[in-house]
Amino acid sequence: MKLGIVADDFTGATDIASMLVRGGLRTVQLIGVPGDTVPAEAADADAVVVALKSRTAPVDLAVAESLAALRWLRAAGAERFILKVCSTFDSTPAGNIGPVAEAMMDALSDEYGCMQTLVSPAFPENGRTVFRGHLFVGDALLSETGMRSHPLTPMTDANLVRVMQAQSRRPVGLLRHDTVAAGADAIRARLAALAAEGVAHVIADAIDNHALLLLAEGASALPLWVAGSGLALGLPALLAAQSGVQLDAQAAQLDALTGPAAVLAGSCSTATQGQVARWIAAGRPALKIDPAALARGEPVAAQALAWAIAQPQAPLVYATADAPTLAATQAALGVAEAGALVEQALAAIACGLVAHGVQRLVVAGGETSGAVVQALGVRALRIGAAICPGVPWTQAVRAAGQPPLQLALKSGNFGGPDFFAEALATQ
Ligand code: ADP
Repeated sequence: MKLGIVADDFTGATDIASMLVRGGLRTVQLIGVPGDTVPAEAADADAVVVALKSRTAPVDLAVAESLAALRWLRAAGAERFILKVCSTFDSTPAGNIGPVAEAMMDALSDEYGCMQTLVSPAFPENGRTVFRGHLFVGDALLSETGMRSHPLTPMTDANLVRVMQAQSRRPVGLLRHDTVAAGADAIRARLAALAAEGVAHVIADAIDNHALLLLAEGASALPLWVAGSGLALGLPALLAAQSGVQLDAQAAQLDALTGPAAVLAGSCSTATQGQVARWIAAGRPALKIDPAALARGEPVAAQALAWAIAQPQAPLVYATADAPTLAATQAALGVAEAGALVEQALAAIACGLVAHGVQRLVVAGGETSGAVVQALGVRALRIGAAICPGVPWTQAVRAAGQPPLQLALKSGNFGGPDFFAEALATQ
């Protein structure tokens, strides 16, 4: 293994894994930190992504889990590392990006002398660009999008230097677009100059894929990147050139499955709201679960499961709500409590669906996907073809005799309005 990635949520993990297999890198995603034995499917891979659910965990827990993942990846042979974060930089002033990045830098300071990280959440194919340190989603500043009212990590400032500095102990600086455009040598020189000034975290402008390729090359000497999946675009070719990795055009092959399918949505993002509305408008079966009923202890999950398995075509079960409804629920139940109730319900429904023969499951929401995958007991995923940028089909590595299971784990903000139907139509 050459490349070890610690991903702060499950959809983010599949997002970067998808980017790597697209470039021909044999990539396996592990759910959580494995024990001492290297899973067979990971032993043979060029890149391993350890998917954590650490984005919104308490800081100490996020740091401890990320360090455990890093230790495991190093022991398994990884030589360079990425802390995979969301392309909308989902975090709060308490963390977890800054504290986790700094703990990983400390851990890598022995062998690698890791004094600086490149911080690049840009993902231009999905409309996330960084200009003069400010993160844009499409034409809008991050802070003027639906991310303002995210249930767990509201993003009210688009200035990433400020956002990163608020959650870091070490100085944060900027690698501006004109330097990036000047090429890999200019990037290397600027990183060195910033290092001499003591800048430990370098927010990188990137407005298109070309900039990301230049950044990957210019920052290839840094052992740790803090990045969205965009920066991984150039990695397969870089690893082939620098480390002799053999790229594999068949890296994204999964089995052809034709069994029943279902969709679960626990994301309240603007994109997911649109996807749920489109599914309902198309006359497809959809059922909303009510957090207040969950809080009252009503058998919401059991009822939803019974409804879902009775549907003649793929059903959607969703908790997705608009911002005012979400705010009212959170005020009544508490942010974390409401989130946990909904996650547990959707995870229980997922388990019930799989027990009733569902073989293909689309899940919307990063935290939601984490809850579902953990409840299903999935330990590792093979990565297949992309449904849209950032969202591939994946196939669970199952014990002998278990029926096959494929999962599409969608980060809340990803996908066009017809994503759910498109996912089910993609093999
Ligand atoms: P995204 O990828 O859009 O960030 P996540 O699944 O990561 O989606 O986060 C959404 C969070 O909101 C989850 O914890 C989920 O349980 C919670 N949630 C979903 N619907 C509701 C609702 N109607 N009321 C309160 N919380 C909700």
